[in-house]
Amino acid sequence: MRLVLLGPPGAGKGTQSGRLEEKYHIPQLSTGDMLRAAVAAATPVGLRAKAVMDKGGLVPDDVVVGIVADRIEAPDAKKGFILDGFPRTVAQAEALAKMLRAKGMDLDAVIELRVDDAALLARIAKRAADTLASGGTVRADDNPEAFKARLDAYHAQTTPVADFYAKRALLKTVDGMAPVDAVTLAIAETLEGSSRSVGTG
Ligand code: AMP
Repeated sequence: MRLVLLGPPGAGKGTQSGRLEEKYHIPQLSTGDMLRAAVAAATPVGLRAKAVMDKGGLVPDDVVVGIVADRIEAPDAKKGFILDGFPRTVAQAEALAKMLRAKGMDLDAVIELRVDDAALLARIAKRAADTLASGGTVRADDNPEAFKARLDAYHAQTTPVADFYAKRALLKTVDGMAPVDAVTLAIAETLEGSSRSVGTG
């Protein structure tokens, strides 16, 4: 099964894709995690991405598309994957469609988590406070200024991606304001509801 999880920062994409990973035994491919690993390792990609990420902007399409193209070639992604945080622009969505088409594949579903901006701001503040309280390090882009930029980038550049998939009858929208377990259930129901088109291979 090949899935995309769409949603603004703080919507719970990471949590829900982790659960989907366990349920379907397919890897969660988070471009944010891959980019943070590249930054930590100071690779050429990481060096290119760091300043943009710290400010909450989007890393150039060619960089992110290159990372995803490599990652979906890995053996563990052969049976499927959950893309978390990609595509974030229509150009990325088109590049992904082209990549998959070249392999004779397509996406099975795109799940959009809808959460309103005020709830997101509260969630992100809580995430930073919880991380600090447990002695962890808060992400460089989890400060209010960068978060606002990430939210603006989502509205300006990623909302059109939802329309892109709606036109292709792949978009399933789930209420991301519900408690975490209820969201997981809603996603499962959505996927089962489209089980005729959602294969396991
Ligand atoms: P995330 O962990 O998904 O919130 O991503 C953290 C940051 O990584 C984003 O704010 C962007 O700067 C960058 N990033 C992650 N995925 C993408 C993407 N698909 N396109 C562009 N930038 C991305």
